[in-house]
Parts: sequence; C-alpha cells; structure tokens
Amino acid sequence: MHCHSTFSDGVFSPQELLSFAQQKELTIFSITDHDTIDGTNIAKEQSEEFSFMYLTGIELSSRYEKQKIEILGYNFDVLHKNFNQKLKLLQMARKQRIHKVIARLEEIDIDITYEDIMKQIGEGVSAGRPHFARALVENGHVKTVKEAFEKYLGVGKPGYVRRETIEPEEAIKIIHSAKGTTILPHPLLVEVEDIEKLEYYLNLLLSWGLEGIEVYYNYSYHCPHLSERTVKNGILFLEKFCKKNDLLMTGGSDLHDHKAIFGEVKIPEDEIQKLIQHFTV
Ligand SMILES: [Zn+2]
Repeated sequence: MHCHSTFSDGVFSPQELLSFAQQKELTIFSITDHDTIDGTNIAKEQSEEFSFMYLTGIELSSRYEKQKIEILGYNFDVLHKNFNQKLKLLQMARKQRIHKVIARLEEIDIDITYEDIMKQIGEGVSAGRPHFARALVENGHVKTVKEAFEKYLGVGKPGYVRRETIEPEEAIKIIHSAKGTTILPHPLLVEVEDIEKLEYYLNLLLSWGLEGIEVYYNYSYHCPHLSERTVKNGILFLEKFCKKNDLLMTGGSDLHDHKAIFGEVKIPEDEIQKLIQHFTV
C-alpha cells in the first residue's frame, strides 16, 4: 500500500506496478507518489481488470519542529479542486529546489544540468533527491545511488537543500479536504531510539485527525542500520498503540527501484479485513 511510480521518484510505471501487485496476489494496493496524483490516477483507471482493491494514494512531505514527518493519503476525491491546487503549489516548491541543488553542486565542481535532472524525472512532476542521485550515477560522478546520497545528497552533505514544506497538520487537512484517509508512514523513521518521543509525535498527529499508522514496513531494506530487535520492539509498541486508539494498521514496501522488496511486507489478516471494511463503506 505504499510505493512510488515514474510520476514521482520511482523507476516503474503505474502499469508495471499494477502487474507486480497482481503477480504478488496482493489484497489491497496503492501507488503513493510524492505530492502528485497523476500516476495513481492512471493506475486507478486501469485497476478494474485486476482482482485486488485499488486505492488512490499520495505521500505528502511535511515537517514538524525540524522533524520530517510524511503523511500518506488514501482513497480521496481525485477531482477535488482545492486539493489539486494545493498539490500544484507543493510541486512548484520541488521544482525550485532543483535549481538550488544544481548551484550547490556547481560550487564543488560537480557538473549537473537542469536537463540532466529533467531527463530522470521524465513524465513525473515530483522532483526528488533520487532523481539527482540517478543523474549523478549516469554522468559518472558516482557509481551508485547510495554513494550519491552518502557523498552529496544526504542531510548535511554539500548538495543537500531542505525543501520548503508544510506541517503535518496541514498535510492531514489537505487529504481530509478531499475526503481521504490519513496514515503515518514508516513511524520508526520519525523516531526509534526514544519511544516516548515517538508517542508524543503520534499523539499530536492523532489530535490533528490521523486515522492510522503504517505499522508494517520494510525496515531491513530501507534502514539496515536498525537492529532486528529494535524494529521488533518498535512494531510491538505501534501495534499496541493502534489497538489502544482504534487506529487502522497498514503496511507497505515503499518501493522506488528495488523490485525484490515489492509485496514482501505482510499485514495481519484481521487488519486487512478492517482496511477493506473502512475503504468499502
Ligand atoms: Zn514513500
């Protein structure tokens, strides 16, 4: 229920992702591109021929007290006017950042042009750091996307530029305005060491109307530095938290380009049933 297509910073088209979902026999599926619904709309139109439940999805970038907190939105009204206007503004902020990153890299003699980035973005409108990383690989500045992040694009590195973003409260409001359901993705990326701090963020999000948490996530791939024990304890805490507060529990691979992780995250059957019920009513 969480992956990215070529319309944001993924490498697979909506059509390809739909067929992966079919192959993996998923029950519920959604493409959740960053700040754009173009890819998820295409998938929605084509999803009727598949047996899984397809939900329109989006992942909105937001920040609270310097902490990056993204918000997933599902099953919204894709035609809602205000919602679409807000998305356009968020996409513009992403475009402005491209020029800033190019200038930063130029300062350290890394030559990347606007065209190089646009080539990576292709049909998408949501420019993100993975596009830069792939352009750096293609132009021979680094060997892998990972190296691009480690050397140039990660937080605190010379090519890192923080994007102007909204606060999670507004992200939740934007999704609710179009009658969508809001979910916090990968909560252990928000905070993992200090469970009390995580609980503080979760309670804040609940007070703003959050409906669920992406409890199940491919941490071993996305955060190999986290020990198995830490992740296990984190998930146990999240499951308890969701039960106590009657929240939806979702799961997702957050696939961008590494196909092997697709469909590997499992959601318990009774939680899947709750999701189906929630999204059917
Ligand atoms: Zn994501």
